[in-house]
Amino acid sequence: MLEQPYVYRHAELAEPDWRRLPGWACVTAQEWESAQWQRAHCVKNVRQLREVLGSGVDEMFYADLVRDQAERATMSMLVPPQMMNTIVPRLAPRDPGFTEALYADPVRRYMIPVFSDRRTDWPSHPRASRDSLHEAEMWVVEGLTHRYPTKVLAEVLPTCPQYCGHCTRMDLVGNPTPMVAKHKFGMARDDRLGAMIGYLKTHPDVRDVVVSGGDVANLPWPRLEAFVSDLLKIDSIRDIRLATKALMGLPQYWLTEEVRSGMERLAGIARQRDVAIAIHTHVNTAQSVTPLVAKAAKAMLETGIRDVRNQGVLLRGVNTTAESLLDLCFALLDDAKIMPYYFYMCDMIPNAEHWRLSLGEAQDLQHKIMGYLPGFATPRMICDVPYVGKRWVHQASRYDTERGISYWTKNYRTTKDVSAGLTLEREFEYYDPIYTLPSSGREWWRAQLAEKEMALVSHLGAAS
Ligand code: SF4
Repeated sequence: MLEQPYVYRHAELAEPDWRRLPGWACVTAQEWESAQWQRAHCVKNVRQLREVLGSGVDEMFYADLVRDQAERATMSMLVPPQMMNTIVPRLAPRDPGFTEALYADPVRRYMIPVFSDRRTDWPSHPRASRDSLHEAEMWVVEGLTHRYPTKVLAEVLPTCPQYCGHCTRMDLVGNPTPMVAKHKFGMARDDRLGAMIGYLKTHPDVRDVVVSGGDVANLPWPRLEAFVSDLLKIDSIRDIRLATKALMGLPQYWLTEEVRSGMERLAGIARQRDVAIAIHTHVNTAQSVTPLVAKAAKAMLETGIRDVRNQGVLLRGVNTTAESLLDLCFALLDDAKIMPYYFYMCDMIPNAEHWRLSLGEAQDLQHKIMGYLPGFATPRMICDVPYVGKRWVHQASRYDTERGISYWTKNYRTTKDVSAGLTLEREFEYYDPIYTLPSSGREWWRAQLAEKEMALVSHLGAAS
């Protein structure tokens, strides 16, 4: 056998034993498999985390978490038991080394971030922003982003059954945090959803609708079924994608009879009308793929929908080795029948620099994972470039690695581009984390910031 940089091994999926966690020591399998029980026992604050983990965790961890929530967090805490149970799956809190393992755990690192995880030199990139993809600027109806010629994103609700620390839609999704007051939809939900359907009926150039949020698992099932049924009545729509991280975070929901039978009805109508319905989920680590997740994904495929695909996010300390990405892709593909599809670079939101990779690192990961998975299941590494859209990481037109600035062009126009007089030759910028740059590049950014501050001071001086 030749020695290879990555060695494939089929690992059997296993549900970690939740009874190792003191707070859930007496929880039965029946309770665990109930979506209602899972929702009612989500971990929403430090007190509840203490109740679940018991006394085995070092106090310094909780202090670190409290500080992060007060000073850095852009998302509030919400971790369903299913996800909580995949954190440090092989140790009980009373076992030696649990606190260290908790700090190092990849799921913990993005679901329960602590202050010491983050950069202190550049916690945020100077060009980071709340709605970093400018989706709200491209709303044609509140929550309906039309930024590509043939497809739209419908944000049907602003909540999820779980909140990820790195959420791109931190501007809109979730509860406010001490650092971030959330944007609120102005229209009533049913008016908004009705207006979205109205727009799509009059725009036959749109053939593909991503139904997202938030997470569609938080929309009451009858309302989601009604919305998708309305989409299925529009002749021009050929693809419908339902975005739900809960397929992994709360698989119990997708296994309920109400949802399973409802998906079967939708899949039947879609087949008659030659429309493809797919579920897009968001799994970042192999340890999140448990037998219950596989069961839910396969139950969805059995309803007759076209596919279940994964869009993960590249997060430093979570999944940024080729080995961790390939282990995840094989776990998804072999046992859960979930198609690895995309890995996004983490977007330029505030306080996310410790998670973000440079473009060069993402390009290197793309190179390293090629050739192991079937071609159809080899995920693309994607940079979602503000005002441009999703681009494969090798598509930058230029890349200044000293200052960490990559340049990107578009190959289509939106009505906004036309009204702003933008041509297809216009270049848009994307930025690497500053701490990953050579010292000359870091110096350049420091000088830029100092210049900006001086300009601001003299402007304020002139105004007073
Ligand atoms: S599930 Fe998606 S929308 Fe919800 S918090 Fe996580 S990343 Fe954001």
